[in-house]
Amino acid sequence: MVPGTNFNNKVFSLAARKLKNEFSWSSTRHVIFTECRRKYYYHYYGSWGGWEKSSDDLSRELYVLKGLVNRHGWVGALVNREIKRVLNELRSTGKVKPLAVSTSRLSQYMRTEWRLSKSLKCRGKSKSTLLYEHEYGVEVEQEQWREAHERAMTCIRNFHSSRTLGYLMSSRDYEILVIEKEKPVFFPIKGTKAYVNVPFAFKRSGGKTVIVEWNTGENSPEPLKSLCRVIYMGEKYDLDPHNISIRECKLLYNTEEELTFNLRELQAAREEIEASIQEMKVLLSEEETNTASIENFPKTDDLSMCERCNFYKSCSKT
Ligand code: SF4
Repeated sequence: MVPGTNFNNKVFSLAARKLKNEFSWSSTRHVIFTECRRKYYYHYYGSWGGWEKSSDDLSRELYVLKGLVNRHGWVGALVNREIKRVLNELRSTGKVKPLAVSTSRLSQYMRTEWRLSKSLKCRGKSKSTLLYEHEYGVEVEQEQWREAHERAMTCIRNFHSSRTLGYLMSSRDYEILVIEKEKPVFFPIKGTKAYVNVPFAFKRSGGKTVIVEWNTGENSPEPLKSLCRVIYMGEKYDLDPHNISIRECKLLYNTEEELTFNLRELQAAREEIEASIQEMKVLLSEEETNTASIENFPKTDDLSMCERCNFYKSCSKT
């Protein structure tokens, strides 16, 4: 138990806080909810307000743990940030700087963030990256950190030589619709905001819209995530879903695959989201104020989940 907190009986009256913890949905939230109810509670309720100096010790601790990212996720985030930068440059200047500029920027970010994380000086600072490995003192060989760097370099090299970037640089027959912004966007599902992030989307002059997912890992994203992107783009830009495709660029392997979804799949996705929202809401102590009580969110029995859980430190004390 974290000192100074009445952990087990803690109920968060969220409406009383300055920023309102509004109930919303996202595919990430759905995955966390499915993995472990307690983890879901920590992530969306227990850590709420932990960025404020005046908040209690437990909320602050959970907020720090919530932001942890392991080295694989970190590589993905940094590569995606560099890709975004290149695409913004392309949009504003019509040109792309040489690969060497990207690799140098990326390496610089990696060095700076790694040092800061290692020193734990960034702990609790919202704009900084704190690596799971450093927070939990996981032994990682120098060789493994080098591999993480090499992975980032491979991904950015493959992005620069990708068919997608080649097309964007050589053709004028398209319009860039989206380059991911910091703030996620949403579409409504029966009065609930369903948040989604669209990494990049462009529309060809023939009418086809392509949503591009830059994947730096081995596995493809959850289909529900991709479906949400299609639903959002269809609604936001008034596009026929038949004319929207998802292009998954596996940057590690330099492959690109295009997927389309039919109306039945999109409807099934909506129904899955609605069911997921209901399952989440039913566990709330008070739906109107989005108030949650820890007792309603049990720990998982699957201990393999705990081994890589950001909240292990706090959770194991209870
Ligand atoms: S440590 Fe295990 S039980 Fe606790 S929140 Fe994480 S996954 Fe759930």
